[in-house]
Amino acid sequence: MTSPNQPNPGDEVVGTYPNDPPVWPSLSMTWRAWKTLHADLARRGGGHRESGAFLLARPGERQVRAWVAYDDLDPDCLVGNISFHAVGFSRLWALCSQHGLSVIADIHTHPGAGTSQSQTDATHPMIATAGHIALITPFYAAAALPPQQVGVHVLLGSRRWASPPPDQRATVLRLRLPAPPWPRPLRPAGGPSSGTVGAVPAPDTTVLGRRPHHAAPKTSAPRRRDQ
Ligand SMILES: [Zn+2]
Repeated sequence: MTSPNQPNPGDEVVGTYPNDPPVWPSLSMTWRAWKTLHADLARRGGGHRESGAFLLARPGERQVRAWVAYDDLDPDCLVGNISFHAVGFSRLWALCSQHGLSVIADIHTHPGAGTSQSQTDATHPMIATAGHIALITPFYAAAALPPQQVGVHVLLGSRRWASPPPDQRATVLRLRLPAPPWPRPLRPAGGPSSGTVGAVPAPDTTVLGRRPHHAAPKTSAPRRRDQ
């Protein structure tokens, strides 16, 4: 069985910024969600294997509303690298339909400091739609790093990617403060002391997913990733 993401034979990987500069697509999420996402990926990877997630937004929007981890969709996919099977895509599409969301990006971890795409990453995009954003976070997501230190890769077309240089990655990966009200220090008039009070903003990004009770049959070759 073929997958909609199956690359076409003969396609080549070209197009590295600035030789083939695109109009960068973007995604936005709060720093708090970014940190929560990293904690989630780090926990799933356990410090010894890669993990990943799809980032979901409402149609036409670029704000990440939810993510779903690869291993919640395909419990057998974390094998050191990531080997994502067709059953996972079936569950992903069902979840997107159920919640009215679509995939705008994916993120996966690498063991070391490298955030460039492997040949496998580049030739087997998780979502083969132009404008799709693939993020790579280093050190098994041990820390939520700023955009400059994250691999940011934009799919231009079939197996053609562009990767902005570090100083332009924040144009694509837009991390922002939570929506107000922010906690803020209050200083009473006439007194030297100050205190910190404030409301904790409502969660802005949700973790979706489920753990299947049984493994479904695999119907196509898995999507393999490596470092
Ligand atoms: Zn990779």
